Amino acid sequence: MRELDYPYSGRLMEAGEERRMTRGIGFLLIGTLFTLSAAALAEGFEKDIVKTSAGDLEITFVGHGSLIFAFGGKVLHIDPYSKLANYSKLPKADAVLITHGHPDHLDAAALAAIRTPKTEVVVAPVCQGKVEGAVVIRNGEEKVVAGVPVTAIPAYNIVAMRPDGVPYHPKGEGNGYVLTFGDTRVYVAGDTENVPEMKALKGIAVAFLPMNLPYTMTPEMVADAAKAFRPHVLYPYHFGDTDPARLTDLMKDVKGIEVRVRKMK
Ligand code: ZN
Ligand code: ZN
Repeated sequence: MRELDYPYSGRLMEAGEERRMTRGIGFLLIGTLFTLSAAALAEGFEKDIVKTSAGDLEITFVGHGSLIFAFGGKVLHIDPYSKLANYSKLPKADAVLITHGHPDHLDAAALAAIRTPKTEVVVAPVCQGKVEGAVVIRNGEEKVVAGVPVTAIPAYNIVAMRPDGVPYHPKGEGNGYVLTFGDTRVYVAGDTENVPEMKALKGIAVAFLPMNLPYTMTPEMVADAAKAFRPHVLYPYHFGDTDPARLTDLMKDVKGIEVRVRKMK
């Protein structure tokens, strides 16, 4: 784990270097730092490393629709959401990608906690005018963000509608994103169903597909999409009360797609 990317590990290293400090003060200080470190660790986020042609991609699973990608010394946050974490303790963002405007995806407090004057913020069309200094990219558009090429993929409902007949996520308002790390393409779908644009994707190594009902996909829809565009690794995410074991079961005889379940309720 590359802990140097994280601000709290920096504090620990400074403590180790303070050798001239008197034992009493040193003990007190280390006690304080231990508390800080324990608080940070208590967040308990799982991480995976994905090998790419340009070095390791570290994925932090914050929860729900929120992820952190650390790559090439840069930190990219996806849909930071205050309910899941104390974002003031998480790494500052070189870039933030927002998929759409629902409060569990566009959260001003989380954004403020990780944003610096250099942070690039990319948002979907529905967020236009809601985030100062953000760049809007539309479905199909591309932009290099913190050195990482990003393409916006349509994210919308075909089946699931509100009682008034309006989709929970109307076409054109929200984005999924394909991020290219070296030779490795990672797809974060946003809130969407198994739309044709998703099923037509090519060359996706790692995919995050949502299963929070009734707003996104059933496990059957996720399995249908995954069998169409065949990511090497499939993470169900944003799954709410949907049991990810249902997806694992649907995919158990499908060769070449590894389903990985992390704490992304
Ligand atoms: Zn949504
Ligand atoms: Zn959502």
